[in-house]
Amino acid sequence: RDRRVGEGRLGALEFTVVDTAGLEEAPPDRIEFEMLQQTRRALADADVALLVVDARAGLTPMDRHFARTLRRLPAPLLLVANKCEGRAAEPGLIEAHELGLGEPLAISAEHGIGMAELAEALLPYDKGADAGEQDDQLERTIQLAIVGRPNVGKSTLLNALVEDERVVTGPEPGVTRDAIAVDWSYRGKPIRLVDTAGMRRRARVSDRLEKLSTSDALNAVRLAQVVVLVLDGAAILDKQDLTIARHVIEEGRALVIAVNKWDAVDDHQAALRRLSDRLETSLPQVRGIPTVTISALRRQRLETLLDAVLAIYETWNTRISTGRLNRWLEGVLAAHPPPMAKGRRVRVRYLTQVKARPPTFALWVSQPEALAESYIRYLANGLRESFGLAGVPLRFLPRKGKNPYAS
Ligand code: GDP
Repeated sequence: RDRRVGEGRLGALEFTVVDTAGLEEAPPDRIEFEMLQQTRRALADADVALLVVDARAGLTPMDRHFARTLRRLPAPLLLVANKCEGRAAEPGLIEAHELGLGEPLAISAEHGIGMAELAEALLPYDKGADAGEQDDQLERTIQLAIVGRPNVGKSTLLNALVEDERVVTGPEPGVTRDAIAVDWSYRGKPIRLVDTAGMRRRARVSDRLEKLSTSDALNAVRLAQVVVLVLDGAAILDKQDLTIARHVIEEGRALVIAVNKWDAVDDHQAALRRLSDRLETSLPQVRGIPTVTISALRRQRLETLLDAVLAIYETWNTRISTGRLNRWLEGVLAAHPPPMAKGRRVRVRYLTQVKARPPTFALWVSQPEALAESYIRYLANGLRESFGLAGVPLRFLPRKGKNPYAS
């Protein structure tokens, strides 16, 4: 009977999803009671609820009963018709309109059909990204994580940045540290350093150290908006570094690479060449990731690093008006139209930014599934150049249709 809770992700959306117990599990005379208990509790905290019906089975009396009750509760409700792969679901899909909950979203959970439409329908309820962006202090605070392999100098850097010695550093990995959340400000911008626990926890178990450190990094990324990945100038962007970097990008966070121990690097030119080679071959999906060479120990170029953090945070927050985007789109389509698919020209009709942090674009396309990945990269690179979006992950939500705002 317990509600089950998990972290969900759909396209660009991240959310907590709560699964309420199936109603059919309740004894019939207690259905009303169960339903209200379960769903009231779940809906009290929910930003939006999905009522799922089985389109193959058609509406049941329970669906109708449930829909009536849910309509009276305050949480916004979307109707989802599941199992919509294939024609057997068509009558059920039509019947679902009878619930008076608006147009049902046709999906197939098993086959992953309709997920883009579902994401689109949920987007207005996404609080994490847009709502409250302007209001409180916390929203304006840059959530920063410092991650990297053991011994690259994360703690030294942290100490140097906040200019006191609250974090214990040492030559051997595994020194015990206290977990602290550090707040400070730089050029008037409040910054919060999140998850220093990762530094502390990577602890005593020395043979599992490498592994632990990566999973800690992954945790910290979840909490952060901007992630500083610290590398050792003597071993730039090895496999583990790349794993973390890719994760940062996939999670849609802004990445800054700090090449530390620059004071101990003999051949600076060779190190820089290796860095740019590795970035080009191993992280081609995001061009222009900011990189700063530093010495945490000697406190060199730390301002440059923080300036890069502020700058990438701004970029990550960029909003571009739909008018500018579509004027730009006309130009790039004319210069280089999308390739043909199945003998037909794929048309890209309209582009709009649906959210920032990271910049996310909906793209109206005649045949979304036929739009080549390489063409999306072409658009991404063009957007980076034309609108100053270098170095941040960009997301695209291709969807089928004409310009939604054309008359
Ligand atoms: P962490 O495990 O990533 O937190 O690394 P620490 O901050 O504990 O540093 C590991 C070792 O690298 C320590 O001995 C530091 O003194 C040393 N270290 C850190 N930053 C620098 C640097 O910029 N230059 C040099 N030469 N050594 C550094």
